[in-house]
Amino acid sequence: DQSIADLDPDIARVLDRELDRQRGTLEMIASENFVPRAVLQAQGSVLTNKYAEGYPGRRYYGGCEEVDVAEEIAIERAKSLFGADHANVQPHSGATANAAVMHALARAGDTLMGLSLAHGGHLTHGMKINFSGRLYDIAAYELDPATGRIDMDKVRELALETHPKVICAGWSAYPRHLDFEAFRSIADEVGASLWVDMAHFAGLVAADLHPSPVPFADVTSTTIHKTIGGPRSGMILSTQDWAKKIDSAVFPGQQGGPLMHVIAAKAVALKIAAGEDFVDRQRRTLEGAQILADRLQAADAAAAGVKVLSGGTDVHLVLVDLVDSQLDGQQAEDRLHEVGITVNRNAVPNDPRPPRVTSGLRIGTPALATRGFGKDEFTEIADVIALALQDAPDVEALRARTRALTEKKPLYAGLQQY
Ligand code: PLP
Repeated sequence: DQSIADLDPDIARVLDRELDRQRGTLEMIASENFVPRAVLQAQGSVLTNKYAEGYPGRRYYGGCEEVDVAEEIAIERAKSLFGADHANVQPHSGATANAAVMHALARAGDTLMGLSLAHGGHLTHGMKINFSGRLYDIAAYELDPATGRIDMDKVRELALETHPKVICAGWSAYPRHLDFEAFRSIADEVGASLWVDMAHFAGLVAADLHPSPVPFADVTSTTIHKTIGGPRSGMILSTQDWAKKIDSAVFPGQQGGPLMHVIAAKAVALKIAAGEDFVDRQRRTLEGAQILADRLQAADAAAAGVKVLSGGTDVHLVLVDLVDSQLDGQQAEDRLHEVGITVNRNAVPNDPRPPRVTSGLRIGTPALATRGFGKDEFTEIADVIALALQDAPDVEALRARTRALTEKKPLYAGLQQY
């Protein structure tokens, strides 16, 4: 029974180097986070060995008595954290959760209304070659070009025109709150179900720092690994009316055996999310995003053609518009990589550049807040980013400043991977 270092040094090296990379750079991809050690332990546990098709107490395999306990705990924690009637914690990922939601709420050929991918929606909300765009008729709403925000009058007009079976409210790249009450009333007016995908902002909701969609939506899906900071995976919350349909859409509708090690890790993450430290972390996450939005709108950044979409943020990310900058999205991503900051380029609405290049950046604060960043560190990193996006920056000096931040807030102190 060899350790990974003896059995497979090639992969052991990847684990070591990736840990070094995470420690030595500043992670600002808005959808990423650092899981705590307890989550790594649950996810790396012997629960990975267990087949458990079905649901607690109703399995199609023997020997499920222990994993049943883990899944029941995860379900109860999810319901209590978000005030939901029903929770399904089996989806392997956010995308499979969303496929199951649509499977439960609609039939192929029905109309799904969602935020356009090019305006901040997710692939699963109706992108042409995703399952969503292939199986359903898509009516996509967009941002108002003048404000960079969703205009609920326009959403209503489109719903009255297209009679969707399902209206999806949710996003991957949008810096503002959604008006769940207005979405609910439009859904009621046209006889649609309301599905909210809170994958990005679920951690803020859990901390009561963002309006909750749960009282308004028929079904709410989420990932566990973004602002919540748990294992990569998904989850679906619903009213009691939809509970049976959601469960059967996940299994046997869509998945086989649930990943019990991941479900145990979800339970751990949901326990952490109910604690006081978690609220403090989400507060720092929001504060960091606001500091960044303000700094990127200062005169020197504006003079370099840097703009902040919608003029600020209510959430954990900032969308940077580089249409007037000398840098395109790819160059800006590369520039920040050189100074030790990881972000992703992102299309801006009506982007003149192709999707592989783009004219924007999406910059998020959840991972750094988990790393312990507060006001001082976010002020420093915001300044580094603002300078890096200007002409001919001193890359070496900026790299030294990010290195100092990684040393000030060490990650996974003392952790060995194996
Ligand atoms: N929903 C939204 C809004 C997302 O932003 C994402 C991921 O980026 C997903 C769903 C999909 O999650 P996963 O990558 O786990 O499939």
